[in-house]
Amino acid sequence: MLNIALFGPPGAGKGTQSEFLIKKYNLFYISTGDLLRKEMAGKTKLGLEAQSIMAAGGLVSDEIIVQIIEKTITENPGCNGFLFDGFPRTYIQAYILEGLMLKLHTALNCLISLTVAEEESVRRLMNRGITSGRSDDNETVIRNRLKEYNQKTLPVLQFYRDKGIYVEVDGTKDIDAVHQQITGIIRNELSKSLFNVVLFGYPGSGRGSQGKALAKKFGLEYVATGPMLDEEIKAGTEIGRRITSHYENGQLVPDEIVVQLIEKKLSDSRDVKGFIFKGFPRTLVQSYILDGLLKKHGSAISQIIEIEVPTLELIRRLDERSKTPGCMPYDNSTSKIVKRLHEHETKTVPVIEKYNQLHEVSKIDGQGSFDEVFARISVVIEDGFKRMR
Ligand code: AMP
Repeated sequence: MLNIALFGPPGAGKGTQSEFLIKKYNLFYISTGDLLRKEMAGKTKLGLEAQSIMAAGGLVSDEIIVQIIEKTITENPGCNGFLFDGFPRTYIQAYILEGLMLKLHTALNCLISLTVAEEESVRRLMNRGITSGRSDDNETVIRNRLKEYNQKTLPVLQFYRDKGIYVEVDGTKDIDAVHQQITGIIRNELSKSLFNVVLFGYPGSGRGSQGKALAKKFGLEYVATGPMLDEEIKAGTEIGRRITSHYENGQLVPDEIVVQLIEKKLSDSRDVKGFIFKGFPRTLVQSYILDGLLKKHGSAISQIIEIEVPTLELIRRLDERSKTPGCMPYDNSTSKIVKRLHEHETKTVPVIEKYNQLHEVSKIDGQGSFDEVFARISVVIEDGFKRMR
């Protein structure tokens, strides 16, 4: 997730910059000012409480802010992240934001502060007042809003300086120049985060060969539980001995073993851009495990892809593979193949359905030549990269 807070005095250009940021990065916009104005327009209890304070240019209470933000955040989980405008505005609100992010298993990436001198803020807000229709865009209230900003909001900066996620942008430059600077900061943030793809598909859909080639093309680490287990068996390790019977029968290997292997792989992979997971998660339990493992590395799933191939074609492909020297022990008889297809149907399809509800799963037609399918998946991953970077 990408979570950004835009900071600055009234009139610094936070609203203007937010407009393009939310579109460009598919962020969910949270402007406490807008939320309060909505509450006021709806004449709700919170709105009525906030009305006179806002009209005078004061800050409404942290209790009110926490209620409106919590309501909005929990209603909108399906986005790439949040963009906060006008929040946090007090030192207490900085702690509130920490708590909210924690609750959503994420964190604020950075606080971007737009700096503008006081007289410039006044000039801009007076100008805006001509068309905005906002009763707080008049000189007396503007001066009061700036006083509140200097007294209560500026101390928030130290909170983020101490955390090392404070970045300053000169807000007096023209809109486009400020936009470029902010984009640069975000690009830098995104390059720090891992790009993680989960590749789904029935056995025989080509996920293994495609996964390996895609990992190479996009500079991602390929994580395939099958080959990892295979290595353990070949090396005759303790794990290898424990899994042999499950493996050869086409059954799923116990989760505690798979978790150990993946955990080791993630910890050993330093300086990677991200991962392609193939063959994991295979069960609902494993999908929770993957979320947890990625979270431990400050990351999350970025993209989910499912390669679709009709059942008859799958059986034909698996049967063909069973006659080649590269045949895996789990592919060497029709009954094992049927068992693997059945395992996928009953245990993994529900995982894909769960993801379908939470994230977008990109369905790829897996028929045709390797190169054709590879090109189709590449387009989807490139899109994902673009959205993220
Ligand atoms: P804005 O639209 O961000 O300029 O906010 C307009 C007014 O809403 C402010 O002057 C405050 O009265 C109130 N307000 C907005 N956000 C907050 C916040 N985070 N904490 C307290 N008051 C806020």
